[in-house]
Amino acid sequence: MSYDTNNIFAKILRGEIPCNKVYENEFALAFHDIAPAAPTHILVIPKGHFVSFSDFVVNAPTPLQQGYFASIEKIAAQQKLSDYRLISNNGAGVGQTVHHFHMHILAGKPMSALLPN
Ligand code: AMP
Repeated sequence: MSYDTNNIFAKILRGEIPCNKVYENEFALAFHDIAPAAPTHILVIPKGHFVSFSDFVVNAPTPLQQGYFASIEKIAAQQKLSDYRLISNNGAGVGQTVHHFHMHILAGKPMSALLPN
């Protein structure tokens, strides 16, 4: 799949539509999910055109990959999250709806089962 520059996260990155921002640096932007699945539900997107985790890991420059993943840990620390779950849906077949790579940070309630029944 090629990157669609009109996807909703691309528009957020360009400042064309608002987000509830949590954190930003040269590598990443993080904001609250509009439909939270947990008391804390933050999305972290890289600053670049990558459709999925797979695309990002294969094609993003190493400094961007390192900076992006380090940002997730910084956000968790800033939010004082000791326990949290990271999820990335890699492809529409497993639920990816926005085709700009993102990680979900979920926290604030017990999460025992990896997948819902
Ligand atoms: P995924 O289904 O893994 O691609 O995740 C996409 C996520 O983006 C979903 O959890 C949506 O609730 C969230 N989302 C969609 N539009 C927005 C928006 N404008 N601001 C914040 N979160 C959004």
